[in-house]
Amino acid sequence: MRWDDQRGDDDAALPGLGMRGLVRSVRTPEFAGITFHEVLARSALNKVPEASAMPFRWTVNPFRGCTHACVYCFARPTHEYLDLDAGRDFETQVVVKTNVVEVLRAELSRASWGRQAVALGTNTDPYQRAEGRYAFMPGIVEALVASRTPLSILTKGTLLRRDLALLASAAEHVPVGIGVSLAIGDEALQQAMEPGTPTPRARLDLIRAVRDAGLPCGVMIAPVMPWLTDGRDELDALLSQVAEAGATGVTVLPLHLRGPVKPLYYAWLEEHRPDLVARYRSLYGSGAYAPREYVRWLDERVRPLVARHGLGRGGGHRLDAEGTYPEGSMPPAQAPPVATVLQPALF
Ligand code: SF4
Repeated sequence: MRWDDQRGDDDAALPGLGMRGLVRSVRTPEFAGITFHEVLARSALNKVPEASAMPFRWTVNPFRGCTHACVYCFARPTHEYLDLDAGRDFETQVVVKTNVVEVLRAELSRASWGRQAVALGTNTDPYQRAEGRYAFMPGIVEALVASRTPLSILTKGTLLRRDLALLASAAEHVPVGIGVSLAIGDEALQQAMEPGTPTPRARLDLIRAVRDAGLPCGVMIAPVMPWLTDGRDELDALLSQVAEAGATGVTVLPLHLRGPVKPLYYAWLEEHRPDLVARYRSLYGSGAYAPREYVRWLDERVRPLVARHGLGRGGGHRLDAEGTYPEGSMPPAQAPPVATVLQPALF
């Protein structure tokens, strides 16, 4: 999902409406209330800092901002690097790198390119609705495969279905990791917290489609939100559905609330669940992370459920820097048709 230490290639050069490389700002009737700022990017590959704990070293993000509009989104603060705000601007002012495929192709053709795995969906969602308009992903996948570069994709977008045949074919040449993010099983809560995303049912169907295409499909159950989605019954039901859909593993992470996400999240609570505000303030205090005791409690709650449903860690939703599948994951050719029993882990 979203990583704090990624600022992206042009962050410092895109100050609000004076964005460097801005070609035009577009509104269309199919995307009411959304403005696309089409820019010519100078680079497509973003290098993840060496100090980062993330397993991948390179990312590609065709978009900045995300109309999926998840209230808890970890990527919201990155919009502030563009002199846009982390709230409504993040959801409605989407920066589009219109030349991302051409620039990527050029970067991958350099003799110095080391063919380390490239992760998509680590900052904003590459299959958000705008991808239906711009259709960058087929070109990105083809460019990565042509340069023999492993790739992984994490998304909430059912538009991924459009490219499954291409991705299955790509997996014959390079390691391909696929992950679907599904944090909330209850549709009413999902609509309230992630108003621009496909329903949980649609995402379960997407997991099935990924597996039917012969690809691995890890599921990110993240973030788990205290008193909203951390009940044993809710987690049990979600893990059961995810396993039944054929997921090859899960990653479960508790909510964190960094920078401007915290006041945005608390404003959402004030509106939808005022009864929880004081409890959250007490749990998170002045920090961004749930206390160690909560993480341990959640771990103890999740582990047996993950094991009971025959799920394991990760499940192929991402690759490490060398393009190999981390422990608990396996390449598509070896992935069994049903969920794999592996060492469950919360991380
Ligand atoms: S889909 Fe991902 S990037 Fe988009 S708003 Fe939700 S959490 Fe953020």
